[in-house]
This record gives sequence, C-alpha cells and structure tokens, in this order.
Amino acid sequence: MQWAHVFKTRGDTIEFKQIPVGKPGPDEVLVQVEYSGVCHTDLHAWKGGHEGVGLVAAFGSQVNDLRIGDLVGIQWINRTCGICEFCSTGNQPLCPKLQLSGYMVDGTFQQYCICKADNAVRIPSGISLEAAAPVLCAGITVYKALKESNVQPGQTIAIVGAGGGLGSLACQYAKACGHKVLALSSGTAKRGMCLYDLGADYFVDYKSSNVTEEVKSITGGGPHAVMIVASIEEPFHQATQYVRPGGTIVAVGLPPGKLSTNIFAMVTQKINIKGSYVGNRYETEEALAILIRAGISVQYNVVDFAELPNIYDQMEKGQMKGRVVLKVGKTPSQGPERLSSLCRDLHINNSKQHHDIPGNLVPKSLERAIDRAGGDFRSDTVTVPTESVMQAIVNASTFGDDIYDEEGDAAVNAFQDKIKALTGKEAALFVLSGTQGNQICLRTHLQQPPHTILLDYRAHVQVWETGAIPVMSQATVTGIEPKNGVHLTLDDVRDRIVEEGNFHFSPTRIVSLENTLSGCILPLKDAREISNHVRSIRVPPGRSRIAMHLDGARLLEGVTAERVTLKEYLDCFDSASICLSKGCGAPMGSVIVGSKEFIDRAKWFRKMFGGATRQTGMMAAAASAALDHCLPLLPKVHALTRRVADYLHRIGYEFLLPVNTNMIVIDLKKTGIRAENLVSYGKRHGLLIFPSGRLVFHHQISEDGVSRLQRALLELITDEKRV
Ligand SMILES: *Cc1c(COP(=O)(O)O)cnc(C)c1O
Repeated sequence: MQWAHVFKTRGDTIEFKQIPVGKPGPDEVLVQVEYSGVCHTDLHAWKGGHEGVGLVAAFGSQVNDLRIGDLVGIQWINRTCGICEFCSTGNQPLCPKLQLSGYMVDGTFQQYCICKADNAVRIPSGISLEAAAPVLCAGITVYKALKESNVQPGQTIAIVGAGGGLGSLACQYAKACGHKVLALSSGTAKRGMCLYDLGADYFVDYKSSNVTEEVKSITGGGPHAVMIVASIEEPFHQATQYVRPGGTIVAVGLPPGKLSTNIFAMVTQKINIKGSYVGNRYETEEALAILIRAGISVQYNVVDFAELPNIYDQMEKGQMKGRVVLKVGKTPSQGPERLSSLCRDLHINNSKQHHDIPGNLVPKSLERAIDRAGGDFRSDTVTVPTESVMQAIVNASTFGDDIYDEEGDAAVNAFQDKIKALTGKEAALFVLSGTQGNQICLRTHLQQPPHTILLDYRAHVQVWETGAIPVMSQATVTGIEPKNGVHLTLDDVRDRIVEEGNFHFSPTRIVSLENTLSGCILPLKDAREISNHVRSIRVPPGRSRIAMHLDGARLLEGVTAERVTLKEYLDCFDSASICLSKGCGAPMGSVIVGSKEFIDRAKWFRKMFGGATRQTGMMAAAASAALDHCLPLLPKVHALTRRVADYLHRIGYEFLLPVNTNMIVIDLKKTGIRAENLVSYGKRHGLLIFPSGRLVFHHQISEDGVSRLQRALLELITDEKRV
C-alpha cells in the first residue's frame, strides 16, 4: 500500500489516503517518488502531478537500460507510441496516442508512480532531486520555447512576464544560451529582480504607456524574438507591434481570447507567430544539463506531501507565492520543512517580550529604534536597549551618589565587581566613553615628560581621540606599521622601544595595543610575546617598568572569536579599557581595569577629565544586563558576519582585511565601487552605511536588514560593472 492524493471526478475534493501500489507493464518503470512539483497546470488539469522525481523501484521485462535505484523524472508526457510521424521526428508531445501524467494516467502525487520507460527523464548528477522537479515542467517549457524562437546567440529576446516563475527561468536560460535579454514585467520589485537576480540586460514595464517605442528604442529596432509567458492577452498584441522584422513571437502563456493581427504587416515584415508546448525527454535532459552548467537557480519551497490540499487552496485564492515542491518520500513525514537561520535565532533572543515592565517603559519609539538598528551597519554602537536592559534600569538601580557616598553606589559597585571577576583584575572603574577610558589609563601610567607611547599607527588612542595624548599626557607617540598588514607582532615592536639612558630620545613608557582593530584579532600569542618582552626590559632604580595598555574597545569580540579567556588575555596588560556601548549593547559607558593602586589613581583623572558622575547606577545596571544579554550572542553575530562576507565575496567584493569578528571592510578601490554609491544604494534600501566601506554587525541586525544589505550591494556592484 502507499499514500496518495486521490480524487474520483473533476471537481471532487481530494482525499489523502492509502491505495495499492501499481504494477509496471513490460515497457514501464515504477518510480518511488521523492519530490513532486506543484504546477498551476495541476490545478487546471484537476490535480494530478506531473513534475516528479524519484528512484526506479521496479521495471518491466522489456526495459533494459534502467536499474533499480536509478534517478528518473516523470513529466507531463507519460507515454507516447514511439513510432508515429511525430514521435519519429522529435515531436513526441504531438503524438496522437499521447498519455499525460496526472491527467490521463495517475500522476506524481502518490508514493509510487508508473511511466513508460522511454519517456522517463534520466536525471544527471549535479542537481538535487528537489531542484530537479520543477525543471521537468517549468524548465523544459521555457527551454523549448527558447529553441522554438530561433533566436541566435548575441541576438535579443524579449521575455514577457519575466518576473514570474516561468519568466525567471526563461531569463536565466536565455542568458545561459548567449542571448541578450529584455525583461518585460511590472513594478520596481520585478525590475530589481530581473536586472539583478536574473541577469537581464534591459527592463521595460509593460504597463507603461509607450511600451512599443521603449522596446524598439532599447533594442535598436525590436527584439529578434519574443517569448510570452504571461497569461494575459494584451502583451500578445503589443509583441506584434514591436517584434523585429523577420522575428518570431512564441506563445507559452495561455490567456483566454483571440489573437488578431495586421496580416499585411505580418506578411511584409515576415513575422512568425507560433505556439510552444513542452519538450520531449531528450530536451528535458538538455534543459537539466544547461541548468547545472550555468548555475541557473530555481526558486521553490519544499513542503510536506500531506500539505497538497492547502497548496491548492492558496493557489485558488491567488495567494501562492513562488513554486512549491512536495517532499513525498518513502515514509511521508509530518509538517513543512523549515530552515532556521542564524540571524533569526539572533532575533528571537531579543524578540519583544511585553511583560511586567512597570509604567510601560517600552514605548513605541523603542520598538521603532530596534527596527532601525536592524539595518544599521555603521557601527555596533548603534544598538538600542533591549527590554531586559530597560527593565534592569528600573529594577537594579540603587540611586546612590557614586561620588559623595563613601562606598560609592551599590549598583555601580556590583557592576565593577562583575567586571573584576570577568577580567581577573584587582579593580575596575566605570567611565563615560572609550576615549575617556583610554586617556585616563594613559595619563595614569605617565608621570613626568619626556615620554613616548608606542603603538600601531592606526591606533584609536592616537588617530581617533581628537589628539588627546599630547594635551592630556604631554606624551609623544611612535606609530608602527605592522609588517603583516593586519596586527602588530613582537618583531614590529622590539626595535622601536626606546630605553631610558640616551638623552636624545624620549623614553618609551607605554606600549599600547588594540584588540580588535578594524575587526581583526591581535592574537593572544602575539600579545603575550610583546608583553613578555616589554616586561623583561630593565629600568633604572626608582622608575616603574614600561606599562602595557590595551585599547580593548572590542576585546570581548576578540577573545570570543579567538576562543581564549579574557583573564589570560588581560594577564598581558597592566591596564585596559573595554567599551560597553559597542558589541556589549549598553546604552553608554566603558570600563577600565587594572591594579587597585592604578584604579585609585585613575579616579583622580576621571574626575579631572569630567567623568565623575552621580546616579551612575542606572547606567551600570543597564550595562550589566546588556552584557548578560549580548555576550552569548557574539558567536552568532560573528557567524552572520562570515555568512554575509562569503556572499559578498561570491558576487565580486574584495576586502581590505580578514573577516575575524563582526566587521567586513570592503576594499572599494579593488572592488571598483564608489563610496558615495555605497551610501546611496544603502539608503535606497533603508540602510545606514558609512562611506568608508566598513560594515559592522551587532546583535540587533535583523534577517531583513541582512537581505536588504545583500540586495543593495548586489545592485551596486552590478550597476558599477555594467557601466
Ligand atoms: C570605539 C572605540 C574606542 C572608544 O570610543 P568612544 O566613542 O570614545 O567610546 C576606543 N578604541 C577603539 C578601538 C574603538 O573602536
């Protein structure tokens, strides 16, 4: 017995039930169906199934070129006589003894289906069975029509209805066969799809008022052929107006109605008008081979076998989007197959939980802000509080005065204790910003000039902090370019350290490193080698040794991606500044860590630099909750970044730096795109992107934001290369 969708007469409801498995005749095969496409023709032909692929399960005595387990497809043409005029000339679909799958004989909406062995399509390797199913009807239909159109490589074919299921395949087949493609469809979404996804050369909206003139002018006198897959009448009439003299119009779509044309023009302009139907088995095999070789993509959704009645329901209501492939298989499974993506998991984690937030603290404006953050790739500073963070501000603040209260504010202390435990350092101090944290640390280490800070020439503390070092600390800097182009190593640093003793030079008092820098990891091994070397340098009695400072604005990103612990990393440093308002998701603040003695002295400079604040507990509580929320999400953010980077690389983007964590730095020059276009294409898709080419990912980037980003960048590179 087997499961099948069964109906008795046209108009009956279909029943999903068990029926006996058929027996193949001498020239037939029994195919165990794995996948079956659902086509609109199935609806019109009353529900049979004619795009099935599966394995040969049994065959008749006269079949000698198939074995059990071979992959075969069952298409519309289930059986032909094989000897008539039409069969003998490759026109099997016109055979008078033709039997059609799912119409005249039982189709592929059963687990085991029978077909004449000669008509079974041999499925080549290189394509998945589920992707092969729609080729057996949709793919062959447009490929055959392309052949019928007689269009030659280099010539132009217009595809009318290019934005639909058949049309999108038609565009791709035409491109794969070396034709220029003019896509006709309607609306900006279809325009984008045709030009960017399907590779069409031109696009004309067939609802525009002067289609004929537009088409003629774009193609320099009309396309050599027109394939009409749309199922409305008007485009047929339009095509007779704009097709090139000597050209061919191929009708595939089946609108009701009659075609009337100007006979005089048809004769004197030598216009051919013809219909095209499906192809024979060999042509289907050709269509599969071209699809595999050209990487033509078939869009479909796989749903469970049992879902068929619902699919028809949606089709009838006109709600069906895209093509559906049923997963049939030996043992029917339950429920539609769904792929969950990383990004969606990310989003589920910060999904809106409207509960017990006193006084309705989560206004619409926050929801809107979360949506906006979903498409904001400028930085990871752009995240907004999650609801758990808002809740923490209310519930975990202690409202002390962190400066006047002798012991400081309890919530601030609790947060600083948490950081101490996390970093293994003796003391921690909440500060207002990363810049403030860095400058306090540098100033705290330094005493009497002259003194120098050694750093990467791209270092934030030097380049991005408003020239604070000479102002705040009276220090000079020595910037070094890493030889490996990514991060500093001991080899870069060793010879550049100025030891005390030669009065011509300003002695090095701090080596300041950065992890991550532009998203790149400074590996623990290198930090350790530099640190060990620096700490082994002897200084005159009474002096303190050269200090190791870390600008760890994104240290948590770095250690997470490198899979090392925060503690072992920070063992290499005497001080570090860690941003809370970036990947950690806090609304504001940074934290600096070091020895107790160091932090006690740092408090002094924090006050001097304007960073001693009062009811800081609210922000410390927020930072604490944000940290709890965001830390576990970092690996997902990195994986998402990697996924997008892989996609961008595939479509031709070049990067300046390796993608280690949550940043992609596009090499605009090498890629050949203009900075202002990067911004404007992003804007067109509602995204915020900086012109530098740096894309930053964070926990609030949404799946929708990612698809819009990929879309924008695909359009950008396509357009820049098209020029
Ligand atoms: C963001 C950042 C800082 C600090 O920036 P603020 O905007 O002052 O908080 C410091 N170093 C690096 C590497 C940074 O990315």
